[in-house]
Amino acid sequence: MAAEGDVPDWLTVGGSVTHGTFGTGTVGRLGEYKGEPTVWVDFDYGERKALSLEFGLPRLSPRKRWTRRTPPRPDLRCDVCGQRPLVLNTHGQMLCDDHAAHFRA
Ligand SMILES: [Zn+2]
Repeated sequence: MAAEGDVPDWLTVGGSVTHGTFGTGTVGRLGEYKGEPTVWVDFDYGERKALSLEFGLPRLSPRKRWTRRTPPRPDLRCDVCGQRPLVLNTHGQMLCDDHAAHFRA
């Protein structure tokens, strides 16, 4: 089994992945969040999620060529510009990366 902090070869920025619950997506970033090795995935259904490697990695696998992309949910769009993916926010607003940054302050 992978040691703590180990990142498998297929888990690279820009790589296509499949998650057991959230479906297909693209790796946006690898790094640390609150001291935990974390991967940020832009899921094709419309949201960006941060997954800790410890708990998230067992549910992730490289997307196979024959795996159908998860269709986007039409209700998941930025309230301001309609773009995706959406990022987590604390106010229940649905915002893209750019607009979430404006509301963060
Ligand atoms: Zn926006």
